[in-house]
Amino acid sequence: MSDAFDIVIVGGGPGGYPAAIRAAQLGMRVACIERGERLGGTCLNVGCIPSKALLDATETYSLIRHGASGFGIRVPEVEFDLAGIMAHKERVVGGLAQGIDFLFRKHRITRVRGTGRIEAPDRVVVTPTEGGAPRTLTATRGVVIATGSDATPLPGIEVDEKRIVSSTGALSLPEVPRRLAIIGAGYIGLELGSVWRRLGAEVTVLEYLDRITPGLDAEIAEALQRVLEEQGFRFRLGTRVLGARRAGDDVRITVQPAQGDGAGAPEELAADVLLVAVGRRAFAEGLGLEALGVALDERRRVKVDARFQTSVPGVYAIGDVIAGPMLAHKAEEEGIALAEILAGQAGHVDYGTIPAVVYTWPEVASVGRTEEELKKDDVAYRVGRFPFSANARARSRRATDGMVKVLADAATDRVLGVHIIGPDAGTLIHEAVLAMTFGASAEDIGRTTHAHPTLPEALREAALAVDGRPMHL
Ligand code: FAD
Repeated sequence: MSDAFDIVIVGGGPGGYPAAIRAAQLGMRVACIERGERLGGTCLNVGCIPSKALLDATETYSLIRHGASGFGIRVPEVEFDLAGIMAHKERVVGGLAQGIDFLFRKHRITRVRGTGRIEAPDRVVVTPTEGGAPRTLTATRGVVIATGSDATPLPGIEVDEKRIVSSTGALSLPEVPRRLAIIGAGYIGLELGSVWRRLGAEVTVLEYLDRITPGLDAEIAEALQRVLEEQGFRFRLGTRVLGARRAGDDVRITVQPAQGDGAGAPEELAADVLLVAVGRRAFAEGLGLEALGVALDERRRVKVDARFQTSVPGVYAIGDVIAGPMLAHKAEEEGIALAEILAGQAGHVDYGTIPAVVYTWPEVASVGRTEEELKKDDVAYRVGRFPFSANARARSRRATDGMVKVLADAATDRVLGVHIIGPDAGTLIHEAVLAMTFGASAEDIGRTTHAHPTLPEALREAALAVDGRPMHL
């Protein structure tokens, strides 16, 4: 087998594998090096997909248990089988991983199992995972770093993936913890907290800031906190975690008020399982970047220019390992754009229209700028809101929590941001993404015919509300 390629990609996650497919579609000879057993990276193996499989399973259980009677459906007894739920998760992940293998075969992409180290701008040495002699791959058009991220550790807390877990351990707990404590009120903590809350765990979220989901529009974040509290979540905001340790079957967590002069007395909390979910950090260990001269930024992310080229010509980087939102679809867009650039085309990512979704119930989804950002930048804007309680389909689905919020430029009416909390928000947001991609005004959305009765009518109504004329409010 020849070891000469047009491009060599290190990392087979949602950045690396779409880059490989697009490059192959454009006629390039491609190798993709992945040290893990399966392609798909963090997202498929221990991220987006297993978490959604657990969220979908537990949401179904919760709907039958708590929601069926409201539809006039009597379900005398509902039980869950944790092993069955985990088997569902494994089937989803395994099936999708096979799907990527199929796509690699279809596009004649060479998959190399092992750990890559970039020896020169056109050369990667692979140490095979199964042992054996290292293999050297050469690239005529570029070497791509797509090595992703890993969980950020918290000083003073040692993750053992049993009682003190990262998101990876929290996806595979062998039993439902009676008390689950979570450090960090970001989307990963809230999604995994939802999974175990629905199965009966008492969930307490410890957050340093005085709000949840930093980065989300504050009004939407407050609404999310309220519904999660109604579901039984307990939030301790403004709380600094000083440390945590195992004590028999308990985890003892030491906390202190985050604000003030630090005089607040430390307090000890007990939990059966502690999930540390304080964020993720770029991962580029062992690639030999220092010797190669690839520049990193202050957060140790690989620095790239507008064409994803690092400080070393011929070496490129995409996905979680570079700056920007750590999201699978952002990594994928960058992988596709880079393959097109390397093929001489005008690959491009529109960073202003990357949606973000929190897959709790109800879901939260957003695109564009938040109200706080517009205020900070002194942008004159108008806002339209529409609650799902006034949407016919949401009422028929008994899913009336939440609202759609549209932010539009006061002078031009161009949509600047859309924020949704409510049923299927993660699906609904894409109409707003498309509208913003094409530079739509709020009036454009308001004048677009929406089928009745559907949830997307709430977006249309919020767009009309920007002009003070919603139809059903
Ligand atoms: P990764 O997916 O991290 O892939 C990098 C790959 O490179 C890995 O497979 C790794 O094994 C491999 N690698 C590293 N170094 C080497 C080396 N030297 N040689 C060979 N291989 C190497 N994002 C969303 O958009 N939606 C979600 O719902 C979502 N949910 C998430 C839930 C959880 C619990 C977590 C942890 C993350 C979630 N994310 C979600 C984030 C998403 O997983 C990441 O943004 C995405 O995986 C980044 O893709 P990537 O290709 O840049 O990196």
